[in-house]
Amino acid sequence: MSFKDVMGHERPINLLQRAIAQEKVVHSYLFLGNEGIGKSLVALQFAKALNCLEGENNPDGCDRCPSCKKIDHHLHPDVSLIEPEGQTLKVDQVREMQRALAYRPYEGRRRVFILAAADRMAPNMSNTLLKTLEEPPLHTLIILLANSPKWILPTILSRCRSIRFNPLPPHLVSDWLMKEKGLEEKEAHLLASLSEGSPGKALEIKEEIAAIPRKELLKGWMGSKLLSIEEKEGWVESLPSQPSQRENLHLVLEMAKTLLRDLIVLKTSVEVSRLIHSDLAEEMEQIAGQWDLSSLLRRMEILHQTSRVIKGNANTRLSLEAMMISWAEG
Ligand SMILES: [Zn+2]
Repeated sequence: MSFKDVMGHERPINLLQRAIAQEKVVHSYLFLGNEGIGKSLVALQFAKALNCLEGENNPDGCDRCPSCKKIDHHLHPDVSLIEPEGQTLKVDQVREMQRALAYRPYEGRRRVFILAAADRMAPNMSNTLLKTLEEPPLHTLIILLANSPKWILPTILSRCRSIRFNPLPPHLVSDWLMKEKGLEEKEAHLLASLSEGSPGKALEIKEEIAAIPRKELLKGWMGSKLLSIEEKEGWVESLPSQPSQRENLHLVLEMAKTLLRDLIVLKTSVEVSRLIHSDLAEEMEQIAGQWDLSSLLRRMEILHQTSRVIKGNANTRLSLEAMMISWAEG
């Protein structure tokens, strides 16, 4: 594949292609955007264009020459994708990169190092990396990939050209899941709507999503106007409230938002085809008939608030209890 085959990300790709055409490629880039969104894919296409044998300053790789093919198969000696072994990048991985940087490219025009999870490295590593970024050897290009600039030292940020990757629109993610991964439409739509615009995340959450009891969430929780104290407590108990389960809880709340979103769609239009959970249309219609729009919107606001608070590292259990209390207030 090459730039032209990448799904979405037109703006970052245009910036990179313009840099190639105008011979203004710098020594270090920082690609910022959600995990699994396609940053490393774009970085590899950039490496291909820069090393393609069909001509210098071509804004895209040809996909046919030995260089392009080697990069595609991760066999090019001058192009490395460095990914964390475990949770974080290890200092040895950065040292190894530094050693390799001392040499000229073996066969390409540019030595390219793509450093994934650059926002997950120890401070001493950041300093090691900083030295390299301060005096980049000729013929090298370092591309750092990160979810957010929050955990990257300002001194590193200032030495890289930052390029932001936005979430992909859900319809692109769901098309990709159907075409490339053979998923059925219903599952693809649901995963896409929960993926935060990231195809990688959509695949990652596939199993977890399948395990969430959607129907119970809808009928027992979303659909109950009045919850008794026992029922409220029951729901808090059943939700993953341990600190280590934060990701799971986040997914359940996101799922709850899509259920509520469907109820709101039903309340404002009759197009069942627009539902994310179209297989639950019958239950949805029953519930939507009993609720007024303002109560549904108010509950959506409660869900959003709770997600925000939990993301901000609040006490999950207390937040869930507070959510259940305000949920039943009418
Ligand atoms: Zn080529």
